[in-house]
Amino acid sequence: MLPIKVRDLSFKYNSSERYIVHDISFDIDKGEFVSIVGPSGCGKSTLCYALNGIIPHTITGNITGSVEVFGKDTQKHESHQLAEDIGIVLQNPETQLFAMTVEEELAFGPENLGIDPDEIRKRIDWALSVVRMDKHKNTFPFNLSGGQKQRVAIAASLTMFPKILILDEPTSQLDPRGKRDVFEVIRKLHDEEDMTIVLIEHETDIIAEYVDRVLVMQNGRMIMDGVPREVFSKVDFLHKIGVRPPEVAEITSMLYKKQLFPRVCTTLSDVKEAIL
Ligand code: ADP
Ligand code: MG
Repeated sequence: MLPIKVRDLSFKYNSSERYIVHDISFDIDKGEFVSIVGPSGCGKSTLCYALNGIIPHTITGNITGSVEVFGKDTQKHESHQLAEDIGIVLQNPETQLFAMTVEEELAFGPENLGIDPDEIRKRIDWALSVVRMDKHKNTFPFNLSGGQKQRVAIAASLTMFPKILILDEPTSQLDPRGKRDVFEVIRKLHDEEDMTIVLIEHETDIIAEYVDRVLVMQNGRMIMDGVPREVFSKVDFLHKIGVRPPEVAEITSMLYKKQLFPRVCTTLSDVKEAIL
């Protein structure tokens, strides 16, 4: 059964005049590491909410088409019923943090599922070691740095042992070091824990290196689906729709047009390959 199967999905918020997601269809396979990119306001977060059942259960509106997560229709199952299949880290981690200690923060989800306290303790230790926050079990979450809060928000999703993890712009508030830290955590979850990852992200330089596949959205529609090398080498097209291409692609595209470079490259290792 496919982790994610979306068919002809359209959605309009009660308070929005137009449809925010238009007739979107795609599948995500087990173990894929997929990134969704698109200009601000194109409907990426809205699509995420529809993937894990926040839409239509918590946020209501007009919905047509379907989303299935491991065969479960998200219109018939609420987010908490899907929690062991699909976890989400929301765009702003502060909205997700509420407890007095990191440990309490991480215990909340599995406690609600009625999981045995010994098992919960094991899961917390594992999740904190994955995000390298072992030392902060008793820290007040609001005293953490932006990158640390983001890693705690990721760990809080992990204690549910979800098979799919959606991360909505997890590095938008972080400095370059914090961004790399979070990306390394996500890579580890994909490579070592066999998780299926859906990452909404603006940093095309970094996703060009990390992901298997890129989905491009514009005005609520899915307009492109391909490997990063293919998508990110379309530099002029990306500019036109308001997505910043990787710097390497910008530079090699300029050089290519002047016939000073053999092709448009999307990562530094790609440049090395092209030169050799
Ligand atoms: P993105 O994540 O790509 O920046 P969003 O999904 O957050 O885009 O928003 C897409 C559009 O939906 C925007 O025009 C936004 O104003 C609108 N929108 C988002 N949330 C709501 C809401 N709760 N009610 C009405 N409109 C909304
Ligand atoms: Mg968003």
